[in-house]
Amino acid sequence: MIDIVKLSKGFGTRTLWSDVTVTVNPGELLALVGPSGSGKSTLLNCIGLLDRPSAGQILHAGKDMTQFGRREIRHFRRDVLGYLFQNYALIENATVAANLEVATKPQRSARGKAGMAIAEALERVGLAGREKEMIHHLSGGEQQRVALARIMVKKPAVVLADEPTGALDHANATTVIDILREMSDAGCAVVIATHDDRVRDRCDAAFAVHENALVTQAPTKPEGAPAEQVSAS
Ligand code: ADP
Ligand code: MG
Repeated sequence: MIDIVKLSKGFGTRTLWSDVTVTVNPGELLALVGPSGSGKSTLLNCIGLLDRPSAGQILHAGKDMTQFGRREIRHFRRDVLGYLFQNYALIENATVAANLEVATKPQRSARGKAGMAIAEALERVGLAGREKEMIHHLSGGEQQRVALARIMVKKPAVVLADEPTGALDHANATTVIDILREMSDAGCAVVIATHDDRVRDRCDAAFAVHENALVTQAPTKPEGAPAEQVSAS
């Protein structure tokens, strides 16, 4: 689904990470782990076409997305990608419903259906009936869950999640990881940047980015076994 091939990123003379090679398949839940500042968010931004790598390729459907022009970037982000941002990236001065409707635009003709999908997604994230509330009146954890509901409504083929449990208590973090697991089981390719071991342990595999080190993808774990982080240097 997405093949990251010898990807490198630096700023000026500083190398953040290099030769990152990893494949994310449909139905796979991958953890991107590593200490703060190691470049996890930057890698997600590169995969999500919000940032450009310094070298290497990101292949999707046979095309190298690092060469995409503006139009192709827009289409990928609109049609394929669901991005769960660390700062939620919601429209603050709008209602919960308005924020979720953004994800249903192509099905505008079927308004009732979209409304139902929104209600179901909100219920699933523990925010049933909160459609009319303003985003800026919600707590950080609630906003995080609205952002996840927006992705559930969109049903993208690829989901990138940056520290999705960072602002959440234990119960809500479990809900979020359960939902990401369900989306991957339904065929979605999911990458989660996280320093939360509980999240990592629920993923199929974990990989780390290290400066000037080859990153090796852990083998898909056997049923029931905890994921192992494999980092070759
Ligand atoms: P992580 O998500 O693992 O905490 P980040 O990807 O946010 O790491 O950042 C990794 C490093 O890259 C940080 O030290 C940050 O300062 C640096 N960085 C990120 N973006 C830029 C930029 N545009 N210019 C220079 N340095 C940057
Ligand atoms: Mg980060």
